[in-house]
Amino acid sequence: MKGKEIIIGPSNGYFYFTFSPPVKSWTEQGKLIYLAGGNCLEFALGREQLSVNHERMLALINSPAGSAGFQPRYFSVHLPLYNNCGSSDLIFSSLEKINKFKPIDCVTMHPSLDCPEEFFAAASEKAIPLALENIDKPSGLACSLGYQVEELSELIERFDLGFIFDIQHAYEHDPSMNYARKLFFALQDRIRHYHLSGQNPADCHSLVQKANNREAVLKFIRWAYQQKRAPIILEGTFSDAEELKREISLVKRKL
Ligand SMILES: [Zn+2]
Repeated sequence: MKGKEIIIGPSNGYFYFTFSPPVKSWTEQGKLIYLAGGNCLEFALGREQLSVNHERMLALINSPAGSAGFQPRYFSVHLPLYNNCGSSDLIFSSLEKINKFKPIDCVTMHPSLDCPEEFFAAASEKAIPLALENIDKPSGLACSLGYQVEELSELIERFDLGFIFDIQHAYEHDPSMNYARKLFFALQDRIRHYHLSGQNPADCHSLVQKANNREAVLKFIRWAYQQKRAPIILEGTFSDAEELKREISLVKRKL
């Protein structure tokens, strides 16, 4: 698609877990994303990494901002599920710390039944750009929250939150993509960014280039993106810089 710049980049969690060898430095991650043709990222935080003393957090907030040659055009922080976060206070203080280093454009979270509504209200009050993501099939069946379109829309509208549209998660519920279209029409004005990955027998968060459902997810992102431009965060498991580069080129070419 011609025109405005495409904002695209990975979740950085893979740099720690599947990248070989792991890349823990924020500056190095930025360089690799830039060289792969990316211009944004999502900072993935697990339960233990939420602590401001964790090495992942320290690497971020102690890195020399501005000297990396990579200034993300869009910066999202993905929180763990609420019951893995410890407390609302811990979330808010960690976000505050990160935000001082790099202003956060979006805070991504899966809704869960144990998340108190006060948390959403407090986030709104603090002007935290919180956005809820639609949930994958196993979690969606265990707890409907984040799956039912009406339920998710109601929660998002009531607390004036954003929406993260995970295309692979929607595919899992309904490969015909009717559910995905319903979700898109209900929440398109609230979409902050897309999550894009695919699936194969070995990986339910595979790179699109390795996915069995690659045609379906690419067709859908193209359709959605033409109506609603938003950053695209690549959530497929990558293990080296070449794979990341190929993924970015593939998706850009198909938009
Ligand atoms: Zn996702």
